[in-house]
Amino acid sequence: MNWKMYDELAGYCNTHRVTLVAVSKTRSATEILRVYESGQKIFGENKVQEMMSKQPLLPNDIQWHLIGHLQTNKVKAVVPFVYMIQSVDSLRLLTEINSQSQKINRTIPVLLQVHIAREETKFGLSYEETEELMRSKAASEMKNVLIHGLMGMATLTEDQNLIRTEFRSLKNFFDRCNRDGSELQVLSMGMSSDYKIAVEEGSTMVRIGSVIFGERAG
Ligand SMILES: *Cc1c(COP(=O)(O)O)cnc(C)c1O
Repeated sequence: MNWKMYDELAGYCNTHRVTLVAVSKTRSATEILRVYESGQKIFGENKVQEMMSKQPLLPNDIQWHLIGHLQTNKVKAVVPFVYMIQSVDSLRLLTEINSQSQKINRTIPVLLQVHIAREETKFGLSYEETEELMRSKAASEMKNVLIHGLMGMATLTEDQNLIRTEFRSLKNFFDRCNRDGSELQVLSMGMSSDYKIAVEEGSTMVRIGSVIFGERAG
């Protein structure tokens, strides 16, 4: 845990009115508690099992964000305590979150994960798919999920211009959705290596692990 880096980062996010999600994947409950005690209440995990095993060990007012791929068969387990799901990438998944949330009388804010990077990955919607999902009758009839915004990850590269271009294109898409009648509030983009570029390009939420906790082993 790097206190000086955390303080600087928290100050930076505060100044720029950006929400800081501390990404705690691979970190122990003890490590997370130390960061919590310095005032950080929002944590992000990318694996359901890992989030579920830490959650009962930690204070109740932590806002847990799921930032990694979610399988439909795990939705039921996370909806009772998850604060936000940032990684929605199909109508099928959104439908399941809605139906499980309805059963326990919750409305869960979600972000649609948009694939903006050059890298090939199975995860994330294209811009066309995102638009189609948001406009679908099925999604518009869901009462127990709130499509609160978009999440995207830039290509892992040294090429700052490419990263900037990808973030800028997601921000343009975000603005266009809102001009076309969506009410998106959150634009989640930026990690340890690229959060300043993301904020310059209009991010409202950054997801940061290594800067706070140090490099991850493995
Ligand atoms: C791990 C992870 C992060 C944070 O990565 P750092 O480089 O440690 O800041 C952000 N977003 C997602 C989706 C992640 O899986």
